[in-house]
Amino acid sequence: MRVCVYCASSEQCDPVYRDAAVRLGASLADAGCSIVYGGGAGGLMGAVADAALAHGGHVTGIIPGFMTDVEWQHKAVTELRIVTDMRERKHQLLTGSDAVIAMAGGFGTMEELFEALSLKRLGLYFNPIILLNTAGFYTPLHEFMCSQIDQHFLNSAHRDMWSMIDQPEDALECIRTTPRWREDARNFAVSR
Ligand code: AMP
Repeated sequence: MRVCVYCASSEQCDPVYRDAAVRLGASLADAGCSIVYGGGAGGLMGAVADAALAHGGHVTGIIPGFMTDVEWQHKAVTELRIVTDMRERKHQLLTGSDAVIAMAGGFGTMEELFEALSLKRLGLYFNPIILLNTAGFYTPLHEFMCSQIDQHFLNSAHRDMWSMIDQPEDALECIRTTPRWREDARNFAVSR
């Protein structure tokens, strides 16, 4: 199983998030999952990758060339793919992944998460999208997304597009128990 992890580049966030990143990387590697992520050496990205590698995991980093010019890439991942730009990176992160896990992060993480969600809504992605709600990070966003449903910007069926978990170790079970997204997604993509 190939799991796409979106997470922060920040080195400054509360250590509770770094702890969760380490546990996520370790638990996915222990379960034999390969990880694909943004290819950074620092922040939560680096923490996930380092932990997975330390547990014998296979880690693929996908990073645009301009970031390697400033040496942001991880130097020891199993595979590092250098791509032309941010769009190509997002495309390669998601394509072929069996699940997405979004950890806490900034704009980059949110952009990646919302691309996955909007493609799933349109029937262009069918696999689990999981928000790792460390320290309640995603609770306000989850409430906002539910309010989008309440206000009919989304259909109630769209509530099944994402899951929330509290602990990194719950990710695998969540992936296993989340049904594949509906093949008829396009039929109800627009709230009418
Ligand atoms: P952010 O959540 O804004 O910190 O952005 C993290 C996401 O954006 C990661 O998943 C990466 O794909 C990308 N990104 C942003 N900044 C960096 C960086 N310094 N090094 C590598 N990737 C980054």
